Amino acid sequence: MQSPLAILYPPQCVSCGTPISDDHGLCGKCWAETPFITGHACESCGAPLPGDDDGMADLCDDCLTIARPWSRGRAALIYAGNARRLVLQIKLADRLDAIPAAAGWMARAGRDILRGDVLLVPVPAHWTRVFVRRYNQASELARGVARQTGLEVAPTALIRPSRTQKQEGKGLDGRFENLRDAIRPHPKRGPVLNGRRVVLVDDVMTSGATFAAAAEACLAAGAADVATLALARTVKDV
Ligand SMILES: [Zn+2]
Ligand SMILES: [Zn+2]
Repeated sequence: MQSPLAILYPPQCVSCGTPISDDHGLCGKCWAETPFITGHACESCGAPLPGDDDGMADLCDDCLTIARPWSRGRAALIYAGNARRLVLQIKLADRLDAIPAAAGWMARAGRDILRGDVLLVPVPAHWTRVFVRRYNQASELARGVARQTGLEVAPTALIRPSRTQKQEGKGLDGRFENLRDAIRPHPKRGPVLNGRRVVLVDDVMTSGATFAAAAEACLAAGAADVATLALARTVKDV
């Protein structure tokens, strides 16, 4: 049955605005053009892997060569094409209306790590960036995943006390160096991380340097386990 709200405001494709009959977020055409990650994927970051899922925990080339301070990672989309456009709209163009659909895809991609007493924690942004953009997309996505799953969210457990240079244009070592110690537990709210199984939430995972800095901060605050959940994962050669 459709809710009265759905009749007043029929659901629209979050990508092209076409009216759609259900609430999954995309029309058939945009769905087909959006690179969802399904099937065999890296256990540590969610990047798609060739071949079939054989139940083994396989790793992508990045996760084989870069130490990951977290245990498992999932991602809903490949950061390319229509998915890249959607991520940028959420990040830069006030498209908060796309959050419920995006959070739904993340909840599905992360279903095997979003269990039990997991605490959802968004990767923090420096306050000046939140001030300019008016929201932190990672916080909105974490709240969205919390609504979808009923899990607890701690939106301010981590902080980013200083502005860091943008990651774009930096090499791998530069990206990790730029974020060293950039993310810390909140002096008052950080203790909620103690003893918890944390799932870090962000919009895009590129090198993993941001997730690494956030995971180190969670572990420093006593988290029992840290996993990652990204809306989209960059991959080479797409
Ligand atoms: Zn569409
Ligand atoms: Zn990986």
